[in-house]
Amino acid sequence: MKVLVIGNGGREHALAWKLLQSDQIEEVVCVPGNGGTATMQGCQNLSLAVDDFAGISEYAVANSISLVVVGPEVPLAQGITDYLQNQGLMVFGPNKAGAQIEASKSWAKALMAEAGVPTAKAAVFTEAASAKAYIHDQGAPIVIKADGLAAGKGVTVAENIAQAEQAIEAIFQGQFGSAGNSVVIEECLLGQEVSILALTDGLTIRPLLPAQDHKRVGEGDTGDNTGGMGAYAPAPIATAELMARVQTEVLERTISALQARGIDYRGVLYAGLMITPDGDFRVLEFNCRFGDPETQVILPLLETPLEYLILACIEQRLADMPPIAWKQGAAATVVAASGGYPGEYIKGKVINGLVAADMAGATVFHAGTKLNADQEIITDGGRVLNVTGIGADFQEALAQAYAGIKEIEFDQMYYRRDIGYRVSNG
Ligand code: AMP
Repeated sequence: MKVLVIGNGGREHALAWKLLQSDQIEEVVCVPGNGGTATMQGCQNLSLAVDDFAGISEYAVANSISLVVVGPEVPLAQGITDYLQNQGLMVFGPNKAGAQIEASKSWAKALMAEAGVPTAKAAVFTEAASAKAYIHDQGAPIVIKADGLAAGKGVTVAENIAQAEQAIEAIFQGQFGSAGNSVVIEECLLGQEVSILALTDGLTIRPLLPAQDHKRVGEGDTGDNTGGMGAYAPAPIATAELMARVQTEVLERTISALQARGIDYRGVLYAGLMITPDGDFRVLEFNCRFGDPETQVILPLLETPLEYLILACIEQRLADMPPIAWKQGAAATVVAASGGYPGEYIKGKVINGLVAADMAGATVFHAGTKLNADQEIITDGGRVLNVTGIGADFQEALAQAYAGIKEIEFDQMYYRRDIGYRVSNG
């Protein structure tokens, strides 16, 4: 099989890496890919934009691509699956109607209410005055969310009313474009977050291993929010009891509610949960695709060939598959970021030590990198590398990831030294 992977992050490098472990897969083409997918054996990049559906489809048809796996949410929300399926291609990822579960938070909240999925209390507003009246009534802390896709930047956890008002103003003044045509205002929940990614064929849904990530830029989970500075799996906070509840109260109810709306949802359904201090949980959000950086710690532990699962979802025969098999042990990833990220940073720095990191036993998934004209790997984003360790337990996995990252160097490289602190002593 030849597979096309859409996207250019660490998630897509990990997907391509995992797919190429199968002897069923001869080649992966990444669109547009990064420096890691450009240099991985069996993989090549195709320089097309992820929203160039016609270009992607033309290439896939002309090159006998058997399967297209879509990484990011934006092309899914724009209907890439519908488009490519109409050209006769096999595509993994929900159609446009299904992708609304991530592309509109108000739509997802309504679905959750209808389905009886536990979630934070919320209200939706389409203009500032009534939104402000509501926060005055509710008090702070309170969470303000732009309704649509905002590249992970549309959520403000407001500590006080002034901050909440500012967030509402910014959204209605167009900071997030049409993503801010309405606002979801939510009760602020405390606790630990956990990501439950599940695979579904629209009828059956099966969870992958639970993962946790570190969203804040600073050690001790302080400072600004980022796309994720590190992650680990399987997250022990998601006990077997919790996973059983998530299966029935979240995953199955959501699939039934999607069916009731006539939506045939096949792909990844990712539930971001808050585990509250009393051990209960609420869904904070749904995503319609693999998580980044969660995928970089989940896939290394997956024993079942990924393409078996993907094809079973597309062909709607997940119920007939044996249980998903996992390797024993744990995986952890540490992000090497550009100095200044998540604010301003400079791209184009040469990255050294990638071979040495590999020799130290780490698996390096590239995120914001590219190959320059001299065939050097250079930085090309804020989150540059996901240096990943796989071991018998978290201590081993983290030790391997850190042994790898210590070998890597680029000007103004930054990484957190405390990834996995919640799990590394227990
Ligand atoms: P979302 O895109 O809705 O998951 O929000 C992004 C991040 O904002 C989450 O991962 C949480 O860290 C935080 N967040 C979202 N909703 C809430 C909430 N109701 N209470 C506390 N934190 C939240």
